[in-house]
Amino acid sequence: MTKIKEGVYFIPGQDEFIPDAHVYVIGEPSSKDLSLVDAGLIGKGDYKIQSLQKMGIELADVKRVIMTHTHLDHIGCLSEILKQIPWAEIWIHTEEADPLEKGDERTVYGMDMFKTLCQTQYGIKPGAFRFQANRKLKDGEVLNIGGMVWEVFHIPGHSLGSIALYHRANRILIPGDVVYADYAIGRFDLHGANAANLKKSLLRLSDLDVDILLPGHNKIVKSLPKGYIRKTAEQWDACLV
Ligand SMILES: [Zn+2]
Ligand SMILES: [Zn+2]
Repeated sequence: MTKIKEGVYFIPGQDEFIPDAHVYVIGEPSSKDLSLVDAGLIGKGDYKIQSLQKMGIELADVKRVIMTHTHLDHIGCLSEILKQIPWAEIWIHTEEADPLEKGDERTVYGMDMFKTLCQTQYGIKPGAFRFQANRKLKDGEVLNIGGMVWEVFHIPGHSLGSIALYHRANRILIPGDVVYADYAIGRFDLHGANAANLKKSLLRLSDLDVDILLPGHNKIVKSLPKGYIRKTAEQWDACLV
């Protein structure tokens, strides 16, 4: 785990044949009010918890897990993590919280073929991803957590309830799987995905002044070039109709 800036820490994903999402830890350590952003792939809970401990973070200070969205590579080890920090709340955008509460796992797996594959590979039982959200997030909310201010942007397209967290003062964007380094974007063929919405979401993010891009996978980018997200959206324009 590495420090990106005061109040923002990075636990890189450990990809296997399925990717493992990066986890970001946000909050000033002195606040004792830390949040994990995303959990990760099934089986990676111990790795994530040990990474926190290696940084000297008191598990008691981790108050919640905020999900950028609920694909398996992000939510897979949520229950493993919650076993070790059972007091932690789950915050998810309302569009993905509602189905999870009802036991609708279509967003988790994205497609039936993948569901069968994963259930076989990992021995996951149907209903393994039924969670109650402690807080259902909405677009435009401002989260005052851990001595910091994070704005919530609902950016559907990769999934129905994808969100970005934006720290305006330090120009930090955590966009989940919507936009990555190297002008890449998230896939838009899974359950709840929508190419036209993804385009709108990218254009919305383009209006933000971003210096540090912290995506769900692959490289993180410090000193993001000006206009990077707009350029990314333009490069993908022909596909996003
Ligand atoms: Zn995803
Ligand atoms: Zn992902």
